[in-house]
Amino acid sequence: MDDHEAALDRAHAQALAWLASLGERAVPATASIEDVVARLGTALPDGPEDAVDVIDLLATACEPGLTAMPSGRFFGFVIGGTHPAALAADWLTSAWDQNAGLRLVTPAHSAVEDVTESWLVDLLGLPIGSAVGFVTGGTMANFTGLAAGRDEVLRRAGWDVAADGLVGSPGVRVLVGAERHDTVDLALRYLGLGSPEAVAADEQGRVVTDALRAALESGDGRPTMVVLQAGNVHSGAFDPFQEAIPLAHKHGAWVHVDGAFGLFAAASPARRHLVAGYELADSWATDAHKTLNVPYDCGLAIVRDRSALRAAMGMHGDYLIHDAAGEPFDKVPEISRRGRAIPVWAVLRALGRDGVAELVDRLCTHAAAMAKGIGEIDGSEVLNDVVFTQVCATFGDDERTRGVVSGLLDDGTAWMSGSRWHERAVLRVSVSNWSTTEADVERSLTALRAVAAG
Ligand SMILES: *Cc1c(COP(=O)(O)O)cnc(C)c1O
Repeated sequence: MDDHEAALDRAHAQALAWLASLGERAVPATASIEDVVARLGTALPDGPEDAVDVIDLLATACEPGLTAMPSGRFFGFVIGGTHPAALAADWLTSAWDQNAGLRLVTPAHSAVEDVTESWLVDLLGLPIGSAVGFVTGGTMANFTGLAAGRDEVLRRAGWDVAADGLVGSPGVRVLVGAERHDTVDLALRYLGLGSPEAVAADEQGRVVTDALRAALESGDGRPTMVVLQAGNVHSGAFDPFQEAIPLAHKHGAWVHVDGAFGLFAAASPARRHLVAGYELADSWATDAHKTLNVPYDCGLAIVRDRSALRAAMGMHGDYLIHDAAGEPFDKVPEISRRGRAIPVWAVLRALGRDGVAELVDRLCTHAAAMAKGIGEIDGSEVLNDVVFTQVCATFGDDERTRGVVSGLLDDGTAWMSGSRWHERAVLRVSVSNWSTTEADVERSLTALRAVAAG
């Protein structure tokens, strides 16, 4: 066997052993960081070691320190698993090792990216011709959409950010929902825009249209951006796009939608109503590594005006470049070399339009079963009124709720996150793994019932 074959065979066997363990293993890791460091050893070796032995050491030292995030019983944060087609395509991407930043240097990658871009825009019901940048995640997708927006609203005010920077510019006013994701604030910080102004949200975390109207009407003439949300991490709620977007546009604002997991509601005919009107926005952020179950890292920055995106992200920062399609690196903040579109293409091809719809519906069905099961536990209260893929609940007072969260973690059957929402400790369930089954949900609820019963 040549060197590649032996090392890849070991990695393949170790990967399959890990995946096979997910059905039964406890979700939390059993080893601490110190344990894993001790197993890995700390001395930098002086000489070479066989790649097969290196892979074996890595796999056996790390295995007890791995959290079963791709398990069907992992409901923490918003994680998603790894669809087999996407995982295998990701391996191939590494083996090909293409520098995917330039179109003509690697025609295969450009072909995959072009096809995947148009499939995503179609699947999500967004304006045909919108650009899709393949970034590391929702955070950078928010950054990318908001960068295009910042430069565009300033351009309309006669200010060229690419040439003149932000110092001395008219500034940009940014309105966000009170319950936007923290990464929106982070993206705005990276963009030199400081902290946004929060607009009141209702009890489910949705922007209140009248509050947005009042905020827009009290504008001081500065160029404005409005950030809306598809999928609140606690309630799963969606902002009222149909009213909010035309309102924001009436005031000349750029509208960006953070839909890290919620944008995929659009891919299901049964859930599409949740995002009605969102296609009127100017930019959208979502993740392929959440709902689409592509391995990390893969976020999607979608911008209606390709020129605006290219002007913000392209090497030459010029709005007037309209010639060729633009390079893949003209759509993303980092000159991305990894072919991130490849696993996305693979999962879309493997599932097809109906398969993606079925996946979204299945996640929602599991979440509804979770909400029902949790609601039947003595003393519990499910806080969200519409169940998308998130369930948020309390178990009486904060102390008991926190006890249930930590008790479930100690039990290890399932992982649900503890969080704080509206000044209360909550248990939060996020269903985002393609492989979760009804049996996983039932088993997780059984463990939760036992923990809650003390
Ligand atoms: C996960 C998430 C983000 C951040 O995405 P990353 O992929 O973790 O960078 C932003 N907004 C929402 C609503 C999210 O759920």
